[in-house]
Amino acid sequence: AANVRVEGVSKTYEVRAGDDVKALDRVDLDIAPGSFVAIVGPSGCGKSTLLSLLAGLTPVSSGRLRIDGDEVVKPHPKAGVVFQSDLLLPWRSIIDNVLLPIEIKGLDRAASASRARELLAQVGLQGFDNKFPFELSGGMRQRVAICRALIQEPGLLLMDEPFGALDALTREQMIMDLQTMWLRLRNTVLFITHGIDEAVFLADRVIVMSPRPGRVDLDLTIDIPRPRR
Ligand code: ADP
Ligand code: ADP
Repeated sequence: AANVRVEGVSKTYEVRAGDDVKALDRVDLDIAPGSFVAIVGPSGCGKSTLLSLLAGLTPVSSGRLRIDGDEVVKPHPKAGVVFQSDLLLPWRSIIDNVLLPIEIKGLDRAASASRARELLAQVGLQGFDNKFPFELSGGMRQRVAICRALIQEPGLLLMDEPFGALDALTREQMIMDLQTMWLRLRNTVLFITHGIDEAVFLADRVIVMSPRPGRVDLDLTIDIPRPRR
């Protein structure tokens, strides 16, 4: 499981000259390896920005971000990302979508195919390997997106409202599945959500960001006894 260090990180979006948006203002955050951290807070407080920075999708304006000591300057090989939209490639089969990161990295596809099938089975998608995204429901597609993020066994899983677009029942099931998977993997998770219920149920630490952009208002460590593997 990866360790995350956020040191005095600020992020300003330069929309046009003289009209900058300060999304994060000197944020400090340490995330211990193997912890499940949920971030909640009102729209616009900078949650997605923090996740994009950690995912290496956009650079910091100032400060430092480290994953296992490496300063993040591009997508880190140890990080997997899941967004609210599944972003599956419609012309690729389910298994080919899960194996996409393996192919991009030029790793051995055949060696990872059984792992991909295993992940799909863990979320109830056994037998769906050769189907295509359009043949699956929204919840099923989001499960595929999670499998794609997990195929490289990321030490850090970054999730931005992964269940935000799902109906209540599917969401409930996904929350349970995510917990089961995480209890097995014990990787570090950063999970953005609007659902305080999700946050409290899944996370062992809940961070509340302030509506003043990018300030941490409240940082709760929840001491819930959890089953150990
Ligand atoms: P949250 O995820 O908490 O809703 P965001 O990180 O999406 O917050 O946004 C924080 C602030 O930065 C908001 O004011 C938002 O409008 C602004 N913002 C986010 N992304 C961009 C962008 N690509 N360009 C300009 N402004 C942005
Ligand atoms: P390459 O494609 O150059 O072989 P790798 O992805 O295998 O690079 O990473 C090699 C090492 O480079 C990693 O173990 C890590 O220490 C460092 N590294 C990779 N990506 C990043 C990153 N986004 N930020 C900081 N360091 C990184």
